[in-house]
Amino acid sequence: MARVPVALVRCDSYDPEAVRAAVERAFRLLGGVESLLPSKGTCLVKPNLLSPSRPELAITTHPEVVKAVVTEVQKVAEGVVVGDSPGRGDTLGAAEASGVAQACRDVGACVISFDEGLDVKLPEGRLCKEFFLALPVVQAEAVVSVAKMKTHGFMGYTGAVKNLYGCIPGTLKAKYHLRYQGKEEFGLMLLDLLAAVKPAVSVLDAVVAMDGDGPSHGRPRPFGAILVSTDPVAVDSVALRLAGVEPTVVPYLKAAAEHGAGAVAKEDVEVVGDPPGSFAIKDFRMPSGNRHRSLLRFGGFMKKSITARPVVNMMKCTGCAVCQKSCPPQVISMSQKKAVIDHGRCIRCYCCHEMCPSGAIDLRMGLVARALDRFIDSLARK
Ligand code: SF4
Ligand code: SF4
Repeated sequence: MARVPVALVRCDSYDPEAVRAAVERAFRLLGGVESLLPSKGTCLVKPNLLSPSRPELAITTHPEVVKAVVTEVQKVAEGVVVGDSPGRGDTLGAAEASGVAQACRDVGACVISFDEGLDVKLPEGRLCKEFFLALPVVQAEAVVSVAKMKTHGFMGYTGAVKNLYGCIPGTLKAKYHLRYQGKEEFGLMLLDLLAAVKPAVSVLDAVVAMDGDGPSHGRPRPFGAILVSTDPVAVDSVALRLAGVEPTVVPYLKAAAEHGAGAVAKEDVEVVGDPPGSFAIKDFRMPSGNRHRSLLRFGGFMKKSITARPVVNMMKCTGCAVCQKSCPPQVISMSQKKAVIDHGRCIRCYCCHEMCPSGAIDLRMGLVARALDRFIDSLARK
């Protein structure tokens, strides 16, 4: 089997010219944008606009990367639109706050919202035979995903594949969390979503990634890389290896390896461009609550004992109720202008942690999980 090429290009800052040159080089390493995208019709560029957040927080795809990708796509496509469905706020608000709206104005592309959608059948789906996708995703001639490299409380990591979750409009995302509560089944659902969206090209903004308590409250982590491929699974696998993380600890990449849905194994990927060794990161922090995955098969009690639970920090909570609205099983109530979580009914999806604008929801490990952590760390030191 031919190896899947992934372009890896060094880019150490968001200086507009440096980003433009890096993105252009990455596309050239893959044969040029002309060979990757159709010349007829409109292309949809799909960044990560998770919430209305400033670019330096590393929560959203950086506007300079979006601008550089739109500029590349404009070389070939008849039209380019930029869109996403944020987890918090609306598309235009998130685009303005993140600088993406201005970046689009600079290059004459328009930002569109993902409010309306359409049922798309997927008979070959492993778990999910149908998706409700945003209209621009269905109508575009080609989709170019421009993801941000970040850790993620529930999946461990979010990049090129998980970025596509924003193709599901608004609050409907909560339904998928309710239907696919386990990490493994959620990961498999993401693979089906990938098959439904079929992005033509996937770009990963890892100039400054996020580690620790991502995807919203982690540490901006200079990484110095832009990755591009036609295979988003390969992009994520390469990025994680650069961070010193085995890709198959991420449920959707484990599922991809098992189902042959994308290049995960090192020998199936050809990294072109700059040498991977020059990017190696030694202390990339994965999020709390994401260890001991393999023990989850022991079910409910074990799940609650070994995964982190969301805990409201009363000093930080402003009573905005964003978490209440984003909780898929609706187990958060408000009392005296503070959020209160019913832990007995919590499914540990961490949407509240992701969406809280004040960073007032901590993910806290219980005694069993902490003991396991210490045991694993002591084995690693031997
Ligand atoms: S926990 Fe966060 S999202 Fe929930 S009410 Fe408090 S500040 Fe708002
Ligand atoms: S309380 Fe938080 S982690 Fe628990 S189900 Fe609600 S959103 Fe998910």
